[in-house]
Amino acid sequence: MNRVAVVGAGTMGNGIAHVFAQYGWGVRLIDVSAEALESGLAAIQRNLARQVKKGTLTEAAAAGSVARIETAGSLDAAVGVELVVEAASERPDLKFQIFRDLAAACGEETILASNTSSISITAIAGHTTCPDRVIGMHFMNPVPVMKLVEVIRGHHTSNATMDRVMAITTALDKTPVEVNDYPGFVANRVLLPMINEAIYCVMEGVATPEAVDTVMKLGLAHPMGPLALADLIGLDVCLSILTVLQKELGDDKYRPCPLLRRMVAAGDLGRKTGRGFYSYG
Ligand code: NAD
Repeated sequence: MNRVAVVGAGTMGNGIAHVFAQYGWGVRLIDVSAEALESGLAAIQRNLARQVKKGTLTEAAAAGSVARIETAGSLDAAVGVELVVEAASERPDLKFQIFRDLAAACGEETILASNTSSISITAIAGHTTCPDRVIGMHFMNPVPVMKLVEVIRGHHTSNATMDRVMAITTALDKTPVEVNDYPGFVANRVLLPMINEAIYCVMEGVATPEAVDTVMKLGLAHPMGPLALADLIGLDVCLSILTVLQKELGDDKYRPCPLLRRMVAAGDLGRKTGRGFYSYG
């Protein structure tokens, strides 16, 4: 059985663990928080049960997936696996330390991947002794549902590492897309300026949030309007990604809209606080 370690059992980490386990991998799910491990496992069980109810997975396959997941509180559990996917909190210093520790603990058989949305893979790799084995695997939320994985080639990522990660991603029934290591990769670099412009439309009184979203849904066939999507992502996350794009690319076309800044300062972060561009009960 192939083995993967997933570091971080939050929103993304539990989704990533779910998918690997579903496709037959032995998973070691690692988090510093026992509470996060417990709620991560509960989320996996809930989401597998939903697949069984929809008829896309058998009960035996769901039970087998759960049985393939072990939890652990330290990075020691990553020793000996073929692949580590890091999905810990989005803080550069934290990720640099995790990769330093992983590189020191894991042998040459282990590929070290990060699910970061906005931190440079090359910078993360620079904190290790094995930058050729460091790569980005940028899964989309919710992981069990979304087909895309942006596979990020850092400056020193080897072809062998890239080829293996592309093959692993395909075997998980996902579509890998190779992307070079520049801020925001492709998905966030294209999405966030669109969301920002939609917020400018609201701030400047061009149209209401409902009107902007309706135009994008019915006129451009987007499944969800940009402002409803911003509420789902979290306005604080949108602000932080735009700030990275503006700073790292040195271009003010990425400057966050003042209305976005104001809503974040006011604590209206979208669905997670019950209020953003829309109200949630
Ligand atoms: P989250 O806050 O839900 O989960 C992060 C988890 O990391 C927490 O459970 C925390 O306890 C754990 N953690 C913190 N320090 C740790 C350590 N030293 N060792 C092990 N675990 C540790 O965050 P999330 O939304 O799942 O995001 C995780 C990563 O995925 C981030 O890099 C983020 O940028 C990226 N990402 C998020 C999304 C999204 O939509 N949420 C989408 C794509 C990528």
